[in-house]
Parts: sequence; structure tokens; C-alpha cells
Amino acid sequence: MFEPRYYRNLGLEEIARKVSEGERLTIDDGEKLFACPEVTAVGALAHLARTRLHGKSAYYVVNRHINYSNICVNGCRFCAFSRKKGDPLSFELSEEQILEKAGAGGRALTEIHVVGGCHPDLPLSFFENIIGRIREVQPHAFIKAFTAVEVAHFAKKEGVSVGEVLARLKSAGVRMLPGGGAEVFSDRVRKLLCPEKLDAAGWLDVVRQAHETGIRSNATMLYGHIETPRERVEHMAALRELQDGTGGFVCFIPLAFQPSNTPLGPMAPTTGVDDLKTIAVSRLMLDNIAHIKAYWVMLTVKLAQTALYFGADDFDGTVVEEKIGHMAGARSQQGMTRGEIERIIREGGFEPVERDSLFRPVSGNAARQG
Ligand code: SF4
Repeated sequence: MFEPRYYRNLGLEEIARKVSEGERLTIDDGEKLFACPEVTAVGALAHLARTRLHGKSAYYVVNRHINYSNICVNGCRFCAFSRKKGDPLSFELSEEQILEKAGAGGRALTEIHVVGGCHPDLPLSFFENIIGRIREVQPHAFIKAFTAVEVAHFAKKEGVSVGEVLARLKSAGVRMLPGGGAEVFSDRVRKLLCPEKLDAAGWLDVVRQAHETGIRSNATMLYGHIETPRERVEHMAALRELQDGTGGFVCFIPLAFQPSNTPLGPMAPTTGVDDLKTIAVSRLMLDNIAHIKAYWVMLTVKLAQTALYFGADDFDGTVVEEKIGHMAGARSQQGMTRGEIERIIREGGFEPVERDSLFRPVSGNAARQG
């Protein structure tokens, strides 16, 4: 399939061979892919890997995001979302407001995604109650809630183990962790950008325990700030290693850093080529994670559509209202309809597949019991 001379000239002949034969890539291979000046060469390899797994299918979900509060005890320097208590731009939704959003005007949702800051006061019982009430409003929706960072925060605040928090959230109705808070696992970067936050080993440990408890998860990577290409690849390799042990990751979500309004100050945003290359390298490195998301909220709809040719197979979903990326300057719209997403996918040359959180196909307007 590949012209060997073309890949030889780029110094990628051996990597192209490994991809053709389904062999695992090393961290050095990933770094070489990032260094390749021709994004289409990397993209073609990723497209081969993506097509092998998913053919022409491109997935999306009818979902809604609910950000319950942006009040956070941490002060990550890449975060434009969080505020301290009392700040005029802080917010905290009441139980009624959360339920109104979950109710979605009487429409059935397939997935509800709930995350917020590490709130200094809200007890774990508040979240158990909220999840239970959301289930009453949307009995068939799959509830994907709380990052590993929030889970560790609940445990610390309550003085209980992470295992107990996970067990209580599971019994309240949490079926999956959305995978945020991973940022970049590099200790160097975390020390500079988010020293108060759960460290990399802690994030991986919470997620490992979640998988062992039967709570699946996604995994994110925030890129495009001060990390090096190698640190991105090392992040992917750490996830790949955990996945070899647990098999609990469903989807990997590269998140382009949005520099506006963050304490990091003026920085150039990522370029389209960097976004596409990062998605492509993710597909190639993460041979044991089935899905790679082109998160249109951060990428823009047009680039997310293009990313379907660079290794991505998931478009995320209808979202409805998103605060985390938009407070950091994301210029995409707030939500998309099922029809809009299907049109974008079809015009890209792919077949839209409406899915649930575990990527099982669902059909029509009715959300299905997971
Ligand atoms: S990234 Fe998360 S943990 Fe860090 S300040 Fe923002 S909301 Fe808080």
C-alpha cells in the first residue's frame, strides 16, 4: 500500500512497515512521526490503522455536557474555567438547575457528561444525590461523570479511600469517567503548570482502580502548551501500558490547548497541522485503544471533519452547552444537532453511526438502556 521509497526518503520506512504489519510502535517511533515534515505521510499511516479498525464508520453520540461548578481549589495555569469561591465569574448550579439541564426539554439523551472544578465544600453525598436524580430524569442515559482529579479530591475531602468513592459513585449510577485531568503526564510540565493537581501516577492509579471496579473511562491529553513532542508520546505510552493491564479505556481524546484567558498568558494556539499530526500519532501509538476522538468543540467542526482522514473515528456529540473550552476562547458553536453532525460526517465521505458511550450503535431518536 505504501510507496517504500517515499517513506524511506522521510526516514519512516521501518515505521511504515510496522504499521502495515500491525506491529507496535516505540516511543522513538512516535517522536519520529512528530518530527516528520509531511503531515499527509503520517496521516496516511494513521488512516490505514483507523480504516482497519472502523472501515468507513464515524461515530457520534446524542449527549449533553453539564458543568456543575467552576469553583476549584486548584489553580492550574492552563485553565480558563476555574474560579475561586466569591469571584464574580464563579458559578455553582443548584440541584434544580442541574436537573433542568439533564432534562433537556423532555428529549431523551444517550449520554450525560458531568464534570466541574474541585469544589472546596460540596460533599460526596451531594454528587451521589445528583447522579441519582439525573437517573430519574433520564432513566436510559449513560452517566459519564467526574475526572480522576475530582474523584481523588472527593476522597481527600471525605477522608475515605479512592476505592470507596468509586464504589459509591458507581452505586449512585456513574458508569464511566470522562477521562479529563490527565493533561500531560510529564512531571516536569506538571510541576510548572499544575503543581497542586493530582500527579500523573495518582491519575493513572485512580483510573486503574475505576477500571477494576467496572467503571470504564476515556483518557485525554492536553497538548500545545509547553510540552515536548516526546512528552506527548510518553503520555500515550503510559496510557497504552495501563490499557494492556485493564482494557478499560474506550476512547482517547487529544485536546488542543486554548490559550485565551488562561494564567499562562499570550501564547500562539496550536496549528491545524499540529492538531492533525497529534491525532494521527495517537492513532498509531495507541494500538490497544479502539477509538480516537476529534473533539469538534476544541478543533472546530471543519478540522474535526478533516481529522477523520488522520486517524480519528469519533466526532463526539451534540454537547449542547460547553463551558471549559469556550471560557478559554474556543470559537466553535456551543452545540450541534444530530442532523448537522450526520451531514458533516457524510460529506466527509464516512458513514455516521450514532453510538452510546461504549460505542455500541443506537438507532433513531430513542436513547437505549446501556
Ligand atoms: S484544570 Fe481542573 S483542577 Fe485545574 S484549575 Fe481548572 S478546574 Fe481546577
